[in-house]
Amino acid sequence: MDSRIKLIKGDITRLAVDAIVNAANPSLLGGGGVDGAIHRAAGPELKEYCKKCGGARHGEAKISPGFNLPAKYVIHAVGPIWRGGNHGEEETLRNAYLNSLKLAVKHGIKTIAFPNISTGVYGFPKEAAADIAIRTVKEFLQSHPEIEEVIFVTFDDENYRIYAEKLDLKDE
Ligand code: ADP
Repeated sequence: MDSRIKLIKGDITRLAVDAIVNAANPSLLGGGGVDGAIHRAAGPELKEYCKKCGGARHGEAKISPGFNLPAKYVIHAVGPIWRGGNHGEEETLRNAYLNSLKLAVKHGIKTIAFPNISTGVYGFPKEAAADIAIRTVKEFLQSHPEIEEVIFVTFDDENYRIYAEKLDLKDE
């Protein structure tokens, strides 16, 4: 496993990284779950900024400043809504990760933290989502030495266990 990939369990809004990724919805104007937490911690300026971003489609990502967050930027990625698996959900989830990483490189971001996109309200099965997240990040890092750290931030015990096993961190 690439030593630049890290796993933690906790609240992504507390991380002092270059960018945290938000599991946003297409409006980019805030919502529940991690999205709500990020907007609360960043302050009302984030919503004002996002109003000018024009939304994002499922699989796309847009960037904003972090405002009151310790992170410098927020990358707002819109994952797929799980509709049984035959609606391109896997490809859309991969694109949400990939487009976030591409935006990060474009903005000189070296440290980035991802939540478990689509595994909350959007209902994507957690195991499959973790496989896609890990594979997409690993592949991207192989051709991007400029990225120094990618942190998977799990919030619930189930996602933590799944990632710890897949990243082979069982003893930690
Ligand atoms: P989605 O609509 O993409 O499913 P959710 O916010 O509902 O987005 O859930 C995505 C993941 O974010 C879930 O695994 C949830 O447990 C997690 N989550 C919720 N709050 C936080 C937080 N403060 N920090 C990190 N992860 C969080």
